[in-house]
Amino acid sequence: MRRTVFNEDHEAFRRTIRDFIAAEVVPHYPQWAEQGYVPKDFYKKLGELGVFGIEVPEEYGGAGETSFKYNAVITEECARAGVSFGGSGVHTALCLPYLLKYGSEEQKKRWLPAFVSGEMMTAIAMTEPGTGSDLAGMKTTAKLSEDGTHYILNGAKTFITGGVQADRVLVCARTAAPDPADRRGGISILVVDARSEGYAVGRKLEKLGLRSSDTAELSFTDVKVPVEDLLGEEGKAFSYLTHNLPQERLGIALGAYAMSAAAVRFAHEYVKERTVFGKEVASFQNTKFVLADCQSDVDALQAVVDRALEALDAGELTPADAASAKLFTTETAARVIDKCLQLHGGYGYMLEYPIANLYADTRVSRIYGGTSEVMRSIVAKSMGL
Ligand SMILES: Cc1cc2nc3c(=O)[nH]c(=O)nc-3n(C[C@H](O)[C@H](O)[C@H](O)COP(=O)(O)OP(=O)(O)OC[C@H]3O[C@@H](n4cnc5c(N)ncnc54)[C@H](O)[C@@H]3O)c2cc1C
Repeated sequence: MRRTVFNEDHEAFRRTIRDFIAAEVVPHYPQWAEQGYVPKDFYKKLGELGVFGIEVPEEYGGAGETSFKYNAVITEECARAGVSFGGSGVHTALCLPYLLKYGSEEQKKRWLPAFVSGEMMTAIAMTEPGTGSDLAGMKTTAKLSEDGTHYILNGAKTFITGGVQADRVLVCARTAAPDPADRRGGISILVVDARSEGYAVGRKLEKLGLRSSDTAELSFTDVKVPVEDLLGEEGKAFSYLTHNLPQERLGIALGAYAMSAAAVRFAHEYVKERTVFGKEVASFQNTKFVLADCQSDVDALQAVVDRALEALDAGELTPADAASAKLFTTETAARVIDKCLQLHGGYGYMLEYPIANLYADTRVSRIYGGTSEVMRSIVAKSMGL
């Protein structure tokens, strides 16, 4: 079926990204996966290429695009090549919307030029060792100093993507005690400088997949955060998260679609090459049926993400729409990628084959950005249940 979401500009951008991946990522990727992070210089290259500035207004050094479709192109091209850009997806797809929507003019002038160039990499820290799905239960506190010039930040975060290398982290913290009548109130976002005294990066966590992105524990001990680094209004973080999570979830849904499409391609290539009992694996009826099922799943996934992408660009993607898209795509991707791995036999289990990485990488998509169970709760609530 002809795809209608992308125009000529998106396709030209796709060619640029594809060439860039072939030249600047593929040759180095095994080493990045081995060491568990991409080098900081690579982020500067992405900055030079204009990847970080796509949606940043021109006055701050960006291209001023308002569409999320360029991000979708990057996600698709990375999956196609079996690589990732480390924590850069968090930088652009998760952190930037907060800076653009809730940052003051002064903050945008101060932060965005370095954001665009890749000199200031960002991460977002919501999850804590004791709480992930139930964000209102967070314990990290930010207490306003007596003279009102700064907050004093104390607490710990975990599973923070890009956390090892981030220069500034959007930290969600309690600026007021929880009110039993409104547990979600009293949480604020501080854009914390990673060089601050008392700010510490703990372990770089060893993960099952997504091996080229650094995931870290962070801790804060009496970190002084100037009031100028409060993002938006005090106590409003939960409504900001509710507003921005649909885009994060669509980004994950896009990844699930793109990884499924890549898995079918890898399996298709493999079964044409591999012979068993003197025949191509592709010649077995089972192989044809399995790949046909997977392809029709990929077609359905594409329809869902494309519709959601249009809705996001039109400002119409609701939290329930995004939850439904994330739930369907990530659960389907798990089945598709598993079947494609099975067609590889033992080679599918070897990390030198891209299908093995896809299998490991996709697992987390049912967990982060909100688990499948949380997505089901959101969809059920929207059904009045
Ligand atoms: C690789 C990776 C990268 C991440 N990156 C970031 C990041 O950059 N920033 C960040 O802030 N966080 C990040 N996270 C955290 C992620 O968003 C959380 O792991 C996720 O939200 C789940 O929280 P939890 O791990 O505390 O699980 P828990 O909330 O403890 O959940 C445990 C189980 O309980 C289930 N459960 C929870 N609530 C309900 C319910 N109401 N009904 C039924 N079942 C329920 C869950 O579905 C799950 O099965 C990342 C996680 C990973 C693994």
